[in-house]
Amino acid sequence: MAQHDLILLGPPGAGKGTHAEYLKTDMNYMHLSTGDLLRVAVAAQNNLGKQAQTYMEAGELVPDDLVIDLVAERMEQLGSDEYYLLDGFPRTIVQAEALAEILEGIGREQPLVINLAVSDAEVVRRLSGRRMCPGCGTIYNVHRDGLDIGDNCPQCGGELYQRSDDQPEAIRNRLEVYKQDSALLIEYYRQRGQLVTVDAEQGQEEVSAELAQLARRGRLY
Ligand code: AMP
Repeated sequence: MAQHDLILLGPPGAGKGTHAEYLKTDMNYMHLSTGDLLRVAVAAQNNLGKQAQTYMEAGELVPDDLVIDLVAERMEQLGSDEYYLLDGFPRTIVQAEALAEILEGIGREQPLVINLAVSDAEVVRRLSGRRMCPGCGTIYNVHRDGLDIGDNCPQCGGELYQRSDDQPEAIRNRLEVYKQDSALLIEYYRQRGQLVTVDAEQGQEEVSAELAQLARRGRLY
């Protein structure tokens, strides 16, 4: 069955992680998250990891050439019957242009870029509802699970807490940073006719169904 390569864009809390997981398990996508790949490199303390570490610890973007090399290497290994789902890349126009060039070089079509759109108010509501377990690492949500700060984790009994960057003020800052970084990228892909916007405030199942349809058929018009 024909399938499309995908890039997922969306603010924190848009459900990128959840939907990437579905597309990976249900449709066999190769999930390429540059954040995950970089964290593995840092843990291994290899050449790339040592170079990336200081930027990541400071919450800054890793230099374009390092991340582009990392992605190029993965793209060149892709089989013609494999499809990728990029998450966390590209973050800059330089990265987007490099990706287009890499794909041209290996004779692959340009990907569909899915923008998971969620209002600021909904992002704040979703993220401020997150509760973490210090014991087993499970993430809960007050809106979904009815568990709050100080409650005990149903799985291991740990006392649930809220991450400091999930407080409403910190969330608003993260959102502003995301918007500044993503505005140019969204415009870049819109001009190239690669952008599709999905309303990510619908229920999880509706969003999943829409993504699966886009993945199979491309644009829906
Ligand atoms: P993430 O898990 O996507 O939030 O990424 C975690 C960190 O890895 C970011 O704060 C950056 O330091 C780095 N990083 C991940 N992807 C990229 C990228 N495409 N370009 C530059 N830095 C990146």
